[in-house]
Amino acid sequence: MTPCAISRSSLRDVPTYAPDAKSCPIDLRDNANLWGAPPNAVKELRAVDPSVLSLYPAVSAGTLTSALAAFIGVREVEVAAGCGSDDLIDAAFRAVAEPGAVLAHPAPSFSMVPIFARLNSLQPVAVPMTRDGSADAEAMIATGARIIYLCSPNNPTGTVTSADIVRRIVRDSDAVVMLDGAYAEFAPDLEDFLQEAPALGRLLVLRTFSKAWGLAGLRVGYAVGSAALVGAVRKATGPYKVNALAEAAASVALAKDLDWMRARVVEAVECRARVSDALRGMGLSPLESRGNFVCVPVPDARMLAGRLAERGVAVRAFTALPVFGDALRVGMAPWPIMEQFLRALREAMA
Ligand code: PMP
Repeated sequence: MTPCAISRSSLRDVPTYAPDAKSCPIDLRDNANLWGAPPNAVKELRAVDPSVLSLYPAVSAGTLTSALAAFIGVREVEVAAGCGSDDLIDAAFRAVAEPGAVLAHPAPSFSMVPIFARLNSLQPVAVPMTRDGSADAEAMIATGARIIYLCSPNNPTGTVTSADIVRRIVRDSDAVVMLDGAYAEFAPDLEDFLQEAPALGRLLVLRTFSKAWGLAGLRVGYAVGSAALVGAVRKATGPYKVNALAEAAASVALAKDLDWMRARVVEAVECRARVSDALRGMGLSPLESRGNFVCVPVPDARMLAGRLAERGVAVRAFTALPVFGDALRVGMAPWPIMEQFLRALREAMA
């Protein structure tokens, strides 16, 4: 039997997520927190009692979901936790849609979304964003999709979809609407829908500890919505998706590292403004970013990213993005690192 014949036939054509991961002295590719990890969470991990390693963690990360519910101001049954928000996106797709159902997502947006859709036998439909980088409400609703995925601030553009548009999509469609707020902490004045989602019934908000919270390596995400929706997502993830160390560290971060997280957000937002200004000074037109990264359209992203890599700086290159064409996505890091990036870019463009 050929190796191919072993897999489900519909899996064979699904692309494998394989981003360029060649090591590079300065790596601005992943939008992780390049200021580091939250100090009290690190202390907690160092002090962990080894006996927890030989036992199973809580079935559904009850300590963490209770703490999140209290933090947000919702009920514990309205919060699910998972192995990164990836896990919750994947589980939510199969929790609410039958095989063959349509899932509408903005284009461009988070590259794993059409992949998770296809892994769950759904049909992804890419709906081009408007020129200002918002989800196109009318076009999304017109798909008649069972699931409408929104991402705000959006990866990879950094642009946002307004609260009015999110509300309109929930009101004027029959879809389950998923609002991915992986970068929401970097846009503190944007409505995040965390408190409102349970009452809206069909809105699931997805969040992560991987970005502002600095815990990407531990893989912790959470979802907030009505008890019915969250209950279905919990069932679809299966048990034990948040390991004991991840649950302990994320719970401590939430209790003791909120100020640390907010201070890092302030720094990332300052860097974003300075980098965007510098890029404009170089004759480029970065998109209006509200995330911890800046997306800048360029004539030939692959070539430019290659030249940056030769100078020790890795950024994510996108070729032929819908609406925006070629672009580089550059994660924010402490300013001296961003200065090195800007220097390398000036050389690469010379
Ligand atoms: N949503 C978006 C928009 C992302 O950019 C990412 C990570 N790049 C994720 C979800 C997944 O994050 P995680 O699984 O680390 O929580």
